[in-house]
Amino acid sequence: MSHPNLASIFNKDEKRVDWHDKALWFVRHKRDRTVHNVKGWESLRDLGHGIKAHTLSNIDNYLIQFEQNALKNGVQVHWAANGEEHNQIVHKILKEHKAKKIVKSKSMLTEECHLNPYLEADGIEVIDTDLGERIVQLAKEPPSHVVLPAIHKDRHQVDELFQEHLGTEPCDGDPQYLTSEARKHLREKFIQADAAITGVNFAVAETGGFVVCTNEGNADMGVHLAPVHIACMGIEKIIPKQEHLGVFLRLLARSATGQPITTYSSHFKKPRNGAKMHIIIVDNGRAEQLSRPDFRASLHCIRCGACMNTCPIYRRSGGHSYDYTIPGPIGSILSPGKDLKKHSSLPFASTLCGSCSDVCPVKIDIHSQLYKWRQIITKETPQPFIKKKSMAVMGKIFSKPVQFEKIGKVARWSLRNLPKSVINSKPNAWGKTRDLPKGPNQSFDDWYKEREQNK
Ligand code: SF4
Repeated sequence: MSHPNLASIFNKDEKRVDWHDKALWFVRHKRDRTVHNVKGWESLRDLGHGIKAHTLSNIDNYLIQFEQNALKNGVQVHWAANGEEHNQIVHKILKEHKAKKIVKSKSMLTEECHLNPYLEADGIEVIDTDLGERIVQLAKEPPSHVVLPAIHKDRHQVDELFQEHLGTEPCDGDPQYLTSEARKHLREKFIQADAAITGVNFAVAETGGFVVCTNEGNADMGVHLAPVHIACMGIEKIIPKQEHLGVFLRLLARSATGQPITTYSSHFKKPRNGAKMHIIIVDNGRAEQLSRPDFRASLHCIRCGACMNTCPIYRRSGGHSYDYTIPGPIGSILSPGKDLKKHSSLPFASTLCGSCSDVCPVKIDIHSQLYKWRQIITKETPQPFIKKKSMAVMGKIFSKPVQFEKIGKVARWSLRNLPKSVINSKPNAWGKTRDLPKGPNQSFDDWYKEREQNK
């Protein structure tokens, strides 16, 4: 289904739209307050952008350097060209270790590769241990946000889910009770786990080590208890040097949740005595995105979610309306590269206000890339007849000032004098849920000239 159709399902529950919007706007404000306290924030963003641009231009060398150092550290390194290969590698490792119970900390890459259903089909239990992820897993839903996966659910819905799946008492959505029950449930799973899977936030070429950021410590808990650690990373997670972590860790936490630092920024380098550590480096379409000059900067993304929190469309349509692993503005740039036809509505799910680009910690020109995808999609995919014709007419009107002025007059008159049933008739999709403003008596141009004359 296209974004407008899925968004209209989310929009049926107006109360939810309101609190979803407010909750994300609250996070956006928190981010603003925190970044304004950092002197040189803009320079830090420039630095993050520069390091990412440099890394992507030399990504082959840095990945090989990373592999060599990781091997020296005693880590087993695997390469996967796509999601299928990634899943097969994980499965093979688990089989070798006879692992049947897995704990996983949040990893958008494993979501992208659909790892859970792949392993579950072979009878392997996979438990997502991030609280938000566990909530959506119990609800059999995908995450709706990269940092706040269950942001579309309120505490009463979580209460019902826990009663059904964890056997908890009804608690009127008491967050403290729900969290403590989740902790007990997850602790059992951590203790029983045969292997732990984590994502990777940053992989350091010069050391072969990597960093995983969580606020709940669930990645550490899983990795420190299980005898096998499998870390899954997209190729774009590589950074050249350890000192660059100082830039990205500062940018990530503040942009994601407005915290000065993520609660746990855990550095992994080699396996514990007697344990095994594997790293799977995954392409899955990233190299192709890198080859598109207009869109390669989308690979700078550090998955902070700030562009989602600020986007007026995301806040009011919810993450599931994007029907892609990464929702929001950045997902709308990444997804057409994967399947242009399937995701052709996503670059249009934007007002192009540019707020996403303003908050992006690594200065991705998100709204410009959305606009570029629109141009490609309009040329390469069939467009609705009415939209095509009306855009051609609008193009002609906007390119001739005299005509523009005449049509403007007609439009202003129509808005003032025609009945609502005509103005908001079927072809006017905008009018379905909104009233158009009353037409003014004069155009901005006339008003401006008049004002200048009367000065
Ligand atoms: S595109 Fe920028 S703002 Fe959006 S998630 Fe990625 S890093 Fe964050």
